[in-house]
Amino acid sequence: MTSLQLKERIEGKAYESHGQSFYALNEKEQFKVVGNAVMEYVVPKWIESKRKFNKKKQAYYLSAEFLMGRALSNNLVNLGIDDEVKRTLEEMGVDYNALEDAEDDAGLGNGGLGRLAACFLDSGATLDYPLSGYGILYQYGIFKQNFVNGFQVESADPWLEHGNPWLIKNNNDTRIVEFSDADKVEAVPYDMPIVGYGGDTINTLRLWKAEAIDKFDFRAFDEGKYIDSVKAQDEAETISRILYPNDSTTEGKKLRLKQQYFFTSASLQDLMIKYKAEGHKNFDDFSKLHSIQLNDTHPALAIPELIRLLEKEGVEFEKAFDITQKSMAYTNHTLLAEALEVWDKGLFKSVLPNLYPYVEEINSRLISELKEWQIDKDEWNNFLIIQNNGIHMAFMSIYATRAVNGVAAIHTDLLKTDVISSWHKLFPDRIVNKTNGITQRRWLLQSNPQLSEMITELLGSKEWVTELSQLKALEANQDDDQVLDRFIDIKHEKKKELAEYIQFHEEVNIDPDSIFDIQIKRLHEYKRQLMMAFYIGDLYNRMKADPEGEWTKRTFIFGAKAAPGYYIAKAIIKYINELANRVNTDPEVNGIIKVVFVENYGVSYAERLFPAADVSEQISTAGKEASGTGNMKFMLNGAVTVGTMDGANVEIVEEAGRENNYIFGMEVDEVVEKRKNYNPVDAMKQTEGLEQVVESLVDGTFHDNNTGMFRNLYNNLTQEDQYFVLEDFESYRRVQDQIAGDFKDQKAFYRKGFINMANAGKFSSDRTVEEYATDIWHVARQQ
Ligand SMILES: *Cc1c(COP(=O)(O)O)cnc(C)c1O
Repeated sequence: MTSLQLKERIEGKAYESHGQSFYALNEKEQFKVVGNAVMEYVVPKWIESKRKFNKKKQAYYLSAEFLMGRALSNNLVNLGIDDEVKRTLEEMGVDYNALEDAEDDAGLGNGGLGRLAACFLDSGATLDYPLSGYGILYQYGIFKQNFVNGFQVESADPWLEHGNPWLIKNNNDTRIVEFSDADKVEAVPYDMPIVGYGGDTINTLRLWKAEAIDKFDFRAFDEGKYIDSVKAQDEAETISRILYPNDSTTEGKKLRLKQQYFFTSASLQDLMIKYKAEGHKNFDDFSKLHSIQLNDTHPALAIPELIRLLEKEGVEFEKAFDITQKSMAYTNHTLLAEALEVWDKGLFKSVLPNLYPYVEEINSRLISELKEWQIDKDEWNNFLIIQNNGIHMAFMSIYATRAVNGVAAIHTDLLKTDVISSWHKLFPDRIVNKTNGITQRRWLLQSNPQLSEMITELLGSKEWVTELSQLKALEANQDDDQVLDRFIDIKHEKKKELAEYIQFHEEVNIDPDSIFDIQIKRLHEYKRQLMMAFYIGDLYNRMKADPEGEWTKRTFIFGAKAAPGYYIAKAIIKYINELANRVNTDPEVNGIIKVVFVENYGVSYAERLFPAADVSEQISTAGKEASGTGNMKFMLNGAVTVGTMDGANVEIVEEAGRENNYIFGMEVDEVVEKRKNYNPVDAMKQTEGLEQVVESLVDGTFHDNNTGMFRNLYNNLTQEDQYFVLEDFESYRRVQDQIAGDFKDQKAFYRKGFINMANAGKFSSDRTVEEYATDIWHVARQQ
C-alpha cells in the first residue's frame, strides 16, 4: 500500500465514523481512526490464521486478567508497517507520539499475573503457535491512582469510553451462562487480534461481556417503572463491570465467583460448539484437540464445568473426568497461603447450585482414591477439595489436571517440598517448572529503540527480536570501551527522557546524572517497599549528620498501586510520600538525593521506567515472590539487580553472575529458621541507625494526618515484622552503600549492567511459551 492510499484510507475512515475531516478530530478520535485503518491490514491475515489452525490441536489460555497495555505501536511494529504509517502521518501533519499517547491502556489486570498472560499471547503469535486467550471484557480496568495529600485515592478507569479500534464484537458467538435456573445472562464475545511479530500469525484474545437476555422490560416501562425496565440489563452488566483490584487475597466473594464462572463457562461452551460443528460424533477426540491452561485458580471452575457440559452431552462421569483431566493444566502463582482461593461452601452452593454437585462428585472420586492408596486419614486435609465448609480451588486444580507448574525454579521446588508436598508424593510427575518470561518486542524493541539499534548493529542482525539467546554474543563486547561508552550514553538518554516525563507528570525535578534506583510493582508488604524507604530515611539521617560528606547522587523512584482495602499497603504509600516530601524540600540534601513516587503506575509508565533504570529493586522476603517478571524487564534493559535469593532472581544471577548484581539478605532456609525465634525489636536495636528511622513513624517526624496509619505500621513492625524488614535491613544497607561507591567508577558499574543485558536471553517469554507448547500443550507451530 502506498502512502497516498493509506492517507486516503485514514481520511475516508474519519468521514465514515465521525462525519468530519480527520484534521478536525481531537487526538483520541484520530487515534481511533488510525486504529481502524490498521485493522484493515489485520483482518485478512487474521482470517487466514484462523483457517490455518483449523482442525489442529490448539491451546487456550484462560485468565481472569490480561494486562495488555497499548496496542498501536505493538501492532504496527509486528506488522512491519511502523515506518510507513509514521511517515504518512508525518506528511499529514500528525504528531505520532501524541497519537500513541492518546490510546488508553487496556488495563485488564492487576500486575504480574495479568502481564504474563499478555506476554504469552505475544510470544504465541510470534512463534506461530495456535494459542488463544479467553477472559473478561471489564468495563473498568485497574483503577486509576491519584495521590491527595500523599494518600492513594482511587477512581474508575473508563478505558472503553472513547471506543476501542481493536475490539470486534461477535454477536453470532453469544453464549448463555446459567448461574442457576432463574439466573442467566448472555456472554457476548469481543475479539482482539494478537499480531505476532512478522505478521504471519494473528491469534485471538476473546473477551466476554455480560448482558441481560431480556434487555428491556417493556411492560415495566409502560407502567411508568422506568428504572425497573432496565434493571435486568444493569444487573447482568455488573458481572463484567470491574476488574477486582485485589492482588493476592480473596475478596468481593459472590460477584467474583460469578465472574469466574461467567467467563469459564462461556469459553468452554465456545470450544464445545466449535468442536461439534467440526463434525465430531462424540467427545473422544476433545482432549486431543484442546489444551486448556488455567492461569492460577481464577478459571478453575472450568474443571467441574467441563464435566457438567460433557455429561449434558451424554458422557458419563468417569469419562468426562478423564477428558477434563487430559485437557487441562494449571499454573500456580503464589506461595502465600492467604492467597490460595477457598470458597465458602454455602456461598458457592447459593451462587452456583447446578455446578456444586460436580464439585462434590470430584471430591468423592478423590476420597475413593485416597482410600485406595491407603493414605492415612490424618493427612486427608492436605488433599480434600471440600473441607471445613470451604472449597479448595488449588487442590481441585492439582487433582483434576494433567500438569501443575510453578513459575520459577525455586518456586517449583518450594511447591514440591513444602506448599503441596503431599500431592507431589502422590503424583511425582505432575508438578513441573516453567520459569516466567517477558516479550522482548514490547520490553526492548519498542520501549528502548536506541538500545535495540545498538544491539542490532553489534550482532549484525535483528534475529534477537525472535531469538533472544543471541544476546549472549554481546559478552564479547563487555570490555570494549567504545561499546560501553555508547551503552552509557543510551542509558543517559533514556534517563533524560524519563526525567522530562517525571518533571511534567509528577512535577519533581530529577538529575539524569544520578543513580536511578527503581522499585515498581504492586504494593505488598512481602515485596518490602518499606525496606527501601527505610534505607532512604537512614541515608537522609546520615547525610544530615555529615553534610560535607562525599555522597553519591541518587534518585529513588517508586511506582505501585495498593489494593483499595489493603490498609497497611496504603500506609506505606503515605509514608513514602511524606519521606519524599521531606527529602525533596530539604535544600541541604535535595541537590544530591531525590525521591519520587510516580502516580498511576501501569504498563505504559513501565515502558518508560525500565529502560531508564540503573538499579532494579527485587527485595522480597526470600520464599515469598513466586517469580517476578519486572526483574527480567530491568535486566533486559541493562540494570543491575539489588535483590534477595527469591523467585527468578535466583536464575538471573545464575545467568549473569552474582558478581554483577547485589545479592543480600536471608535465604529461604534462614527465613524459616529465623521465624522460629524472632524478636523484631532486638533486630532493630542491634542495627545502628535503624531505631531512629523506625521511630520516625511515631515520634512526630512524619505526619499521617491523624489517621493512626503510621502507628499501625509501627506496631506491625515492632510486634511481628512478619516479612523481616528489620532483620534484613543491615545487609540491604550494605549492598546499597556498595552501589553508591561502585557508581563512582562508571565504566565498571555499567559493565555489570551490560553483562546482565547480554545474559537475559533465558527470560524471553518465547522460551517459556516454547516450553509450555512442547511439554504441556503438545501443540505444533504452523507457519
Ligand atoms: C511487569 C509488570 C508487573 C510485575 O512486576 P513484578 O516486579 O514482577 O511484581 C506489574 N505491573 C506492570 C505494569 C508490569 O509491567
